[in-house]
Amino acid sequence: MVEYKFMITRNAMKTNEFEDSVYYRVACSCGADDHDITIEFEKDGSMIFLNFYKNIAWCSHWGSHLKYRQKLWKRITAALKMLFTGYIELEESFILTEDNIEPFIKALIEGEEYIKKQREKLESKKVG
Ligand SMILES: [Zn+2]
Repeated sequence: MVEYKFMITRNAMKTNEFEDSVYYRVACSCGADDHDITIEFEKDGSMIFLNFYKNIAWCSHWGSHLKYRQKLWKRITAALKMLFTGYIELEESFILTEDNIEPFIKALIEGEEYIKKQREKLESKKVG
């Protein structure tokens, strides 16, 4: 097993940290690398923005019973919706099992603590 510098626990690692943000990557339980989720904690004043980044595939969980032309038509109508409305709704699963639910929770807790520490550092600089 490869030991990463920022590994916080098995199936989760801190991938980057900055003065006002920190990033974690948690593995999907299915084991596919491109299913991993990246969690960003971003400090913005008194708020913490929690952003999730994940690769999403069109029609990955449904529609596999459709014929090629039907799938193509769904893609075309989705592309047109995106073109004319500016948004599209997509969904993708991130599988949590006992192998990665604790790492996922640990990343959430550690990220929140990191942002709190950064906020305290910034506030102590203002006072001092
Ligand atoms: Zn997966």
